[in-house]
Amino acid sequence: MLRYVTFAVKVQLNVHDLNNEAVAGNVTDIRIMDFLNENGDRVEAPAVSGRMLKHWHYEALRQHINQGSYNSLPLCAGCKVGEPLRPGEMSNSKLIQVTKVKEADALRSCAICDIHGYLIAKGAEGEAGVSARRISRALFSWLMPVLNSEFASKQVIHTRVSQQEERAKGEAAAQMIFNKSYASGIYAFVSALDIERIGLIELNLGSEQPYAIEDPERKERAKVAIEAYRHLISGQIGASLSHAIPHTKPIEILVAYSENGVLPFPVSPVYQKYIEDTVGLMPEHAKLLYWGEKSPEGVEKRSSIDEIFQELIKKMEEAK
Ligand SMILES: [Zn+2]
Repeated sequence: MLRYVTFAVKVQLNVHDLNNEAVAGNVTDIRIMDFLNENGDRVEAPAVSGRMLKHWHYEALRQHINQGSYNSLPLCAGCKVGEPLRPGEMSNSKLIQVTKVKEADALRSCAICDIHGYLIAKGAEGEAGVSARRISRALFSWLMPVLNSEFASKQVIHTRVSQQEERAKGEAAAQMIFNKSYASGIYAFVSALDIERIGLIELNLGSEQPYAIEDPERKERAKVAIEAYRHLISGQIGASLSHAIPHTKPIEILVAYSENGVLPFPVSPVYQKYIEDTVGLMPEHAKLLYWGEKSPEGVEKRSSIDEIFQELIKKMEEAK
């Protein structure tokens, strides 16, 4: 059975506005990050924070559980509707609020609170077994441009036409003009999923079982967490999917998994030699699967991305 899996992903994304993180007035600009290239020279390019990647993994989890084949898994009120109030419950006034519960109860009642963790800001002092914080089992890097590759961004003008009559009468007011930036490039991210700790109670006071949930539900949670990565690889990321789905082309996927224990993070595909370097870094119990055009040593090549996911899911279903 799978205990730990890491992903190193390289994709081309054309015309995306994945991060509306830098907003000024009626201009939505793309976030630009400073970093070093392989020669150690400083460069600037559009980048997307790991918070955003984690958010889109979360959205994929919600979709699978709310309307997909994993709909037997439970969600709290917050995760069900996509409110970042976790673990959430419906208050008397029909508003979702963060609920103070024991960790084991929070895990049992919500698969996403279990997988993505939570922070109860006000704490839960004095109650034995109540943990205010649970660390995410899914960890994400920023989405960064591959070093020494080309990248571009451009600002374009959009107009929004008002439907209101009184507005339509005034010429200037009828068309609301705003600027938006779109970027293109070859990007990479790395991620790790600590499967063994899905369902695990961190604040275990000795009297309880180590896991709050049992198989087969624990396995189902791990499987949906793996499946959600397909959506990230497909470019299902960004706040403007209704009108700016990125033109995505996966280029390379390198997955490392272990049935024995934790793994180090893979070397990022922003670096040219990341495959050899990852092979050289991983311990013996890691198995490496690769999809892409190269034929590198030390990895098992697969002919489709789906084959990699099927292998992970199959490994997850095994008894031990
Ligand atoms: Zn939840």
